[in-house]
Amino acid sequence: MNSKIHVLSDETINQIAAGEVIESPGSVVKELIENSLDAGAKKIVVEISGGGLKLIRITDDGSGMSEEDAKACIVRHATSKISKATDLFHIATKGFRGEALSSIASIGKMTLQTAMENATGIELEIEKGKVIQQRPCARIPGTTIEVRSLFYNVPARKKFQKTGPAISAEIFRVVSTLALSHPDVQFELISNKRKAIKTLAKDFYGRAEELLGKEFTGGSRILEFKEGPLHFSGLIGSPLNHRPNRLGQFLFLNRRSVISEPIYEAVRLGYGTRLESRRHPVFLLYLEVPFDLIDVNVHPQKLEVRLRSEDLFREKVSFAVSSALNQKKETSSSQVSFTPTEVQFEDVPFRLQEEVEEIEIPYEESFRESLGQVGNFLLFHDQKSGEVIFLDAKAASFRLLFENLRQKQKQKSESQGLLVPFSIYLTTVESAMVLTHLEAIEKMGFSLRPMGKDAFMVEAIPPFLEESAVQHVITEMAQVLQEFIGKRDYQEEREEKLALLTARYAKRKTIYLPHEAQLLLSQLLQCDAFSHCPTGNPTMVKLTYEHIENLFRESQKTAKSS
Ligand code: ADP
Ligand code: MG
Repeated sequence: MNSKIHVLSDETINQIAAGEVIESPGSVVKELIENSLDAGAKKIVVEISGGGLKLIRITDDGSGMSEEDAKACIVRHATSKISKATDLFHIATKGFRGEALSSIASIGKMTLQTAMENATGIELEIEKGKVIQQRPCARIPGTTIEVRSLFYNVPARKKFQKTGPAISAEIFRVVSTLALSHPDVQFELISNKRKAIKTLAKDFYGRAEELLGKEFTGGSRILEFKEGPLHFSGLIGSPLNHRPNRLGQFLFLNRRSVISEPIYEAVRLGYGTRLESRRHPVFLLYLEVPFDLIDVNVHPQKLEVRLRSEDLFREKVSFAVSSALNQKKETSSSQVSFTPTEVQFEDVPFRLQEEVEEIEIPYEESFRESLGQVGNFLLFHDQKSGEVIFLDAKAASFRLLFENLRQKQKQKSESQGLLVPFSIYLTTVESAMVLTHLEAIEKMGFSLRPMGKDAFMVEAIPPFLEESAVQHVITEMAQVLQEFIGKRDYQEEREEKLALLTARYAKRKTIYLPHEAQLLLSQLLQCDAFSHCPTGNPTMVKLTYEHIENLFRESQKTAKSS
């Protein structure tokens, strides 16, 4: 036998395709919900257990399928949504590649139940991509697809899947995002028999409040823009509500959740100089445009889109965003902030702040004499070198706190028990993230106790934080932690990011007495990277005697020449 080349079996082909489309239980949920939306469902119920690895069941009240279609839908490249290549230029449905069901059917055990109006339904048992049993079934119009033992025949994949809450958090995010993309459709998510999401609102504002929380909607502006066939709407977050990553950004292009660099840039442009650099605004943006302005067929999971005219999008989106921000009026109901009504005081353990240790300034540091303070800068005279040191108090204490939090990783950082604990409220996704990483968060000096659905009782906080900042800090932590979904070996990076975030929101000390200034400087000099704050700004600037002399010479020159 001389031939090495042979055509792969269908089963192998589907498993290869599954590698592109189906990365995780979250992608199964996404594909199945999208199919339900394409079938015109008005109510979609998602049930999962074991983070989706054990069971995913999606029930919709959409159009349902005929017996022939039910058998055909698990065949690769079988789709009812397009029939010829030119259809690709005006895709109105979420799916069109006919890859999802064939892929899912090849890596999990599937049961499909479906019925059209006024017809008997059909139930199919599918294994390894083949129908192994079929029977008629009675059900109301719509479809239920159940996937059990996902990845059971792809051991390499299964090893990489996280277990427990981290996967559920991914599914929460998938369901929330799809529920935001279609506020007119009702969604329910039940995880391990507990109701995790049930939407009530039917408009995007209400839905954002339900799913993303008032942290998100608070202070945001409504965006409404119409021009010819272009229609944009949504919520633009206050420039003060910025985040360390883009997880607070929800972009829907013709109701499809997409990633698009040029559009993100256009939004940023719309914010102008209102935004801090390296931080990301939050927004919920729905763009409705003619189908031929975009190409969605560039990515197997259809996350990325190509814009046929980037300039048009840049101009219109940035204009719409800046107009929204220029409105005086903030969104109305969002101004109400949560009041901790459920606080119960009995049997809440508390610790009083431990006595602050007196720290002595080492003798050899005392040659740096404190000269006073100018705004945020502390001035010193180094008696050995003759230099004058300008210390940026904010950057210096940022560096100091950051390194302290990092070093104390092995144990727990300093923590201050609260006499009156208070509650914070998170979205379902955020609270799943906090639960998953609770230990790492508590190492920063927090003590959080889960309190029913998506609320936590804050019992202790790092001593340098203001109580009022805690809701924000924990929300932001939950956002950052989402970056680790599906990743491995992230402990180091996670610790660093949490420490950075905690230190960033430290109370600002505005007045330094001479001995406090000296203490700050000497502690800073013991840090590993004392010259810069954790985000790269210098902590100090030194002027030598020569420097100062030169300054005088130069101003003498300019005085003469003018
Ligand atoms: P695509 O969505 O790209 O067409 P899929 O593999 O996801 O490919 O689905 C194949 C076909 O199965 C769809 O085109 C549709 O006709 C049918 N289908 C899948 N899910 C449903 C559903 N929930 N209700 C009705 N029809 C469905
Ligand atoms: Mg599909």
